[in-house]
Amino acid sequence: MTSLANIDQATPAEIGAVTGMLELHEVDRLFPADLPEPGQWEQRYPPRDLPAEAQVTRLAPSPTGFIHLGGIYTAMIDLSVARETGGRYFVRIEDTDQSREVAGAYEQFDRAFGYFRVVPDEGVGAGGDYGPYRQSERATIYLSYAREMLRSGKAYLCFATADQLTEIRTRQQQLKRPTGYYGEWALWRDADDEAVREQLEKGTPYVVRFRSPGRTEKRATFTDAIRGELSMEDNYNDVVILKSSAGVQLPTYHFAHAVDDHLMRCNLVIRGEEWLSSTALHLQLFEALGFEPPTYAHIALLMKQIPGGKRKLSKRKDPEADVDFYIRSGYPAEAVLYYLRGLANGRLAEIALPEAIAAPISLAECGGAGPLVDLVKLEDISADHIATLSGPQIYGALAVWAGEFDTELHAVIEAHPDQTLAALAVERDGVDNPRKDLRKWSDFREAYGFFFAKLFTPVTADDPRLGGLPPELVRSFAGDFVATYQDLDDSVQWFQQIRDLAAKFGFAANAKEYKKNPEAYPGSIREASQLIRVGLTGSTKSPDLFQIARTLGRDEVIRRISTLTA
Ligand code: GLU
Repeated sequence: MTSLANIDQATPAEIGAVTGMLELHEVDRLFPADLPEPGQWEQRYPPRDLPAEAQVTRLAPSPTGFIHLGGIYTAMIDLSVARETGGRYFVRIEDTDQSREVAGAYEQFDRAFGYFRVVPDEGVGAGGDYGPYRQSERATIYLSYAREMLRSGKAYLCFATADQLTEIRTRQQQLKRPTGYYGEWALWRDADDEAVREQLEKGTPYVVRFRSPGRTEKRATFTDAIRGELSMEDNYNDVVILKSSAGVQLPTYHFAHAVDDHLMRCNLVIRGEEWLSSTALHLQLFEALGFEPPTYAHIALLMKQIPGGKRKLSKRKDPEADVDFYIRSGYPAEAVLYYLRGLANGRLAEIALPEAIAAPISLAECGGAGPLVDLVKLEDISADHIATLSGPQIYGALAVWAGEFDTELHAVIEAHPDQTLAALAVERDGVDNPRKDLRKWSDFREAYGFFFAKLFTPVTADDPRLGGLPPELVRSFAGDFVATYQDLDDSVQWFQQIRDLAAKFGFAANAKEYKKNPEAYPGSIREASQLIRVGLTGSTKSPDLFQIARTLGRDEVIRRISTLTA
């Protein structure tokens, strides 16, 4: 009564297990009449013409939210391995759960891949011979293979309702049995074909389930390219492979993974370790479909230090998990990539940035323990990197960032390129240890904004940053400064002007003298210079005052100190 399409491929155990099977024509009736046979897809997507050692890798993001830093981390590894072996790297959008799709996700993917230079060889935008690269556009392909699985009895129709599934689960929990749809719990696994026909006639919605060959006591073994030999409980669940029969029939992740990675000729699946436990199921699916399985490499998840331990870097809790955080703040891509490469292969953190970025990443060195993402460390790396750049290089990168994220700053630096370069040159050009005051481009305003009249808020005599000097004294001091100031180009002579004024207003010549008798002075030369510093920069900390004054120019110095007299 039953017919097995690929009877020669089925094992006796499988044939024996198949009791309630539909006739071939009954299976075929469930699908469009013109649905291609698997052989046609095999022809359409032939094996890639690449060297034997070539690794074809992919990233398979779902457009359900912003891209996690771990996505860029994985993409970076994917790309490195593909390049190193003469393979290919593609991006496949896994959008079969369309209810969870988030607006703007695609734009964010492109932005992130572009910024971090992990642009795929093939993908939705890039094109390629193995597309479409969006799963929702591959629905017909999955149907061909699902039909084949049904024809051969490796899959079956399941009409179980949500209530029945809940009931099964509850009973399993009560009996302390593993939960799932398997063995004697799988209501439709061995159903009589008449019962199946009856449901079909009634138009009851169904899903297609994989007839898992696994048994609860079996173990699955495989070699992970990162973790080595692994042995785990085999899959015994009859997982859903095609979701609801109503509307467009879409596959589950598991089924689409097997079909797509086979047809797209990916031979190395690098993915997050959260998929490790599904690998036994995936190997069963590859086997049932008659596909050669890929090599798996399960990447350890990026972690975050929290009081008393660590946890995985979370999209929900940690702003730094979002790739846009780095783009928006203006961390140079090189610095982030250098940091991530160091997390993947510790050895790469020991060598200089340009070499580390060009060096291949070794999967075997990735390790199974999740590396900690430490923003402070990343900022140090970034500051070191920016300190190696020239003024014009910084200006160029800053302008690109500001053009998108700080248009006011952008307008100012575009209008004043010379001033911007002069500001950047302070304690940078021609010195052995350039300033490390930029960790990201959004630091520029705070560190250099005062160089630009438009970004500077004048300071008045009662400003708390003046350290409590009496406003009357500040006013007179500033008034004298404005009346006598000379734009001298010798730093010692320039500073002597402040010394002279400080002496005139009764400041101690040095801090030691002041400390000995604090009542006798309003402060020391330090406090007097601070007065000028705060007046010129709005900050109690700044680079060399003389250089700042020279960069601002005489008129601007006079204008700023004049506001202290008001
Ligand atoms: N769509 C899956 C995810 O976003 C992909 C997992 C995989 O790489 O196979 O996690």
